[in-house]
Amino acid sequence: KLTEKKFILAGNWKMNKNNSEAAAFVNKLIGKIGNEEKIDVILGVPFTSLEKIADITSGTNIKVSSQNMYFEESGAYTGEISPDMLKDINVTHVILGHSERRDIFGETNEIINKKIKKSLEKELTPIFCVGEHLEEREKGLIFNTIEKQIKEGLNEIEKDEINKIIIAYEPVWAIGTGKVATPAQAQEVHKYIRDLLSEMYGEEVAQKVTLLYGGSVKPSNYFGLFIQKDIDGGLVGGASLKEDFIDLANIMN
Ligand code: PGA
Repeated sequence: KLTEKKFILAGNWKMNKNNSEAAAFVNKLIGKIGNEEKIDVILGVPFTSLEKIADITSGTNIKVSSQNMYFEESGAYTGEISPDMLKDINVTHVILGHSERRDIFGETNEIINKKIKKSLEKELTPIFCVGEHLEEREKGLIFNTIEKQIKEGLNEIEKDEINKIIIAYEPVWAIGTGKVATPAQAQEVHKYIRDLLSEMYGEEVAQKVTLLYGGSVKPSNYFGLFIQKDIDGGLVGGASLKEDFIDLANIMN
C-alpha cells in the first residue's frame, strides 16, 4: 500500500484480563508484533493494568492506551481517572467515544468532545470512535449519523490539531457480533469520513488523518479491509485478547 503514513494496529481489551493475565499475555507479544518502522501497535488495557503494561512495553513498539478518561483535571469526581494520572504512568493514547461508552454509559457527542479537547491539551492521543447502529444503516442514515458524530465530536478542534487524532470507524452492528463490514462497506464510510474532514480542514490535512476500521476484525478478514485506500489500520476487540493479534500485526508488515 502506497502511503507515507504509519499504519496502526490498536487492541481494545475492554473489561478483560486481570493484572497477571495482562502481563503474561503482553510478554508473549513482545518481539513478535511486527516491524516498528511500518506499524505502531497500541494496546487498550483496563485501568488496573496500565502501569504494569506500560513498564513491560517500554522500549518496544507497543504503546499503551486507556479505554476512557474524564475531562476534568482533578477533584470531586468519584470513580473517575484524569489525563494527568494517565500521563504519569506513561500512557500515550486514550480510546474515546467507543459505542459501549455511548450506549451503556450514556456518553454524548458533547461529553466526548470535551474529552477529546482535554486529551489534546494534555498530549494524549485520542482514538476517537464513531459508527452507526444497524437501525440507522437500514434507514439510510449512515452518513447523517457519522456526520453528526464527527462534527460534534470535533467541535472547536482546529486544523493544526486534527492530525493528532486517530479516528476509528466501528459500525455498532459489527462490534462483537462476528458480522464484519465488507471491505466495500467499510471503505465507503472511511471515504465519507475523509471527504468530510477535507471539507472541514482541507484536503492535505484530511489525507494525513489515520482512520482505523473496527468491528469483528480477525486474521481471516483483515487483509481485504486493510488494503482499502482509506483504511490505515484496525481497532480490534476480541481478537486482541489472543495470539490472533500477532497475526494481525504481521498482515500489516
Ligand atoms: P470486536 O470489538 O473486534 O470484538 O468486534 C471491536 C471494538 O469494540 O473496538
